[in-house]
Parts: sequence; structure tokens; C-alpha cells
Amino acid sequence: MQFSFGIGKDLSHFPHFSRVPLEQMIVSPDGTKYPRLEVHIYNYDKTLSPEGKTAVTVSFYTTNREFWIDARKNDRPKYRQAKEEFTQQIIDLLDVRLSGIKDCIEVIDVATPATFQRYTNNWKGSTQGWLPGKNLLAKSPVGFKLPGLKNFYYSSHWNQPGGGLPIAIKTGRDVAKEICKTYKVPFKTISQTK
Ligand SMILES: Cc1cc2nc3c(=O)[nH]c(=O)nc-3n(C[C@H](O)[C@H](O)[C@H](O)COP(=O)(O)OP(=O)(O)OC[C@H]3O[C@@H](n4cnc5c(N)ncnc54)[C@H](O)[C@@H]3O)c2cc1C
Repeated sequence: MQFSFGIGKDLSHFPHFSRVPLEQMIVSPDGTKYPRLEVHIYNYDKTLSPEGKTAVTVSFYTTNREFWIDARKNDRPKYRQAKEEFTQQIIDLLDVRLSGIKDCIEVIDVATPATFQRYTNNWKGSTQGWLPGKNLLAKSPVGFKLPGLKNFYYSSHWNQPGGGLPIAIKTGRDVAKEICKTYKVPFKTISQTK
């Protein structure tokens, strides 16, 4: 879940990132309970908002993605209501944390697993791929080649537990290496060719 706010206020005196323990847990409409609020204040990047204004995001992980994906697909009013309800909880908390911002919010954007699925087509709207399981060295169930599909290589955050950009980039390199090996072409990186 990502809540993005365009706030018509200079927030340059706040730390750019904080994880705040909450006195009372936030309960998401999907049932997940959150004991902390993670606030990212983009006060260090002048390109993200006009002078005197600030972009702020709050994000949460949820494993209950079906709630959002199903609601968006089958019950749009319920989906909108859930987003609205959750957003109001966040605004109330931010208002205290950021010393009164409620009346200065100019833009609100809420992204749910349904949004991530819609924009990236990632499986179940996941943002990062697999988390490592009990066996940290276990292979991912998703290989570079997919059964029944010739001349196709799949490189993504699903190829190795851990996920995110580092894994997506590393597996891209690994796939390039494998293709070079298959076609007996020397594998060279840019730094080696300089
Ligand atoms: C809000 C957010 C914040 C994030 N923050 C971080 C972070 O701080 N650090 C970090 O490391 N990672 C972060 N991530 C995760 C990171 O962005 C992803 O792990 C990474 O982009 C995955 O790369 P990928 O190549 O596997 O998939 P993607 O980048 O999703 O690329 C898949 C591509 O395949 C295309 N595609 C999908 N289906 C089809 C199809 N059927 N046919 C053809 N094309 C298709 C999509 O359009 C897309 O271009 C974040 C993700 C989100 C959503």
C-alpha cells in the first residue's frame, strides 16, 4: 500500500524518513494490523514539489492482496470506501506527526495491490517478489526458462528470494551470462570492455 500526499507546506525541518511506533495499532480495511507508521518526506528533492510544498508518502506491506484486487474488480464502491477509510486514518496520524497538515493537503494518491497489478501485471500485485523462507539458500521455484516455451528467458525479481531491484538487476546479468554460454559467446560486462 502506498499513500502519497502533496502537502502545501514546507516540511524541510523534519527528518526525511522515520518509522514511528504507534500507541494504537492501525487496522487496515483488509484486516492487517500495523504497529508502526513509515513516513518518507521528500524534502531533500526539490524536483518533486513546487517551492514551499512537499511530497510525503506512507507505505505498508500487506499479504491480504486479494481483498484489494477482488474489491476493485467486483465491488468498486467498497474498494473506494476502503481506500478512503484507510487514508483518513493515515491523515489523522500524519497531522499529529507533522504538526498540522490536514488543511494543507492538496493531492492524494493511494496505490493498493490492485494498482500495482494493474500497472505492472506483477503476480497478485506483489512489489518485491519472494521473501526468503526458512532455508535461506533454497532456490526460487521460478527458473530462467519456462516449461514449454522455447527461446524464452525470464529474468525478474521472482528468480531469487529477496526480490526488489538488486535481484532484478542481478538475475538480468545471470540470464545474459546463461545465453552467452548457450551460444558459446564470451560474456563481457561494460567495465571489462572499456
Ligand atoms: C511502490 C514500490 C516501491 C518499491 N521500492 C523499492 C525499493 O525501494 N527498493 C527496491 O529494491 N525495490 C523496490 N520496489 C520493487 C522493484 O520495483 C521491483 O522488485 C522491480 O521493479 C522488479 O523488476 P522486474 O523486472 O522483475 O519486474 P517489473 O519492473 O515489474 O517489470 C516487468 C515488466 O513486464 C511487463 N509485463 C508484465 N506482463 C507482461 C506481459 N504479459 N507481456 C509483456 N510484458 C509484460 C510489465 O509492463 C513490466 O514492464 C518497489 C516497488 C514498488 C511497486
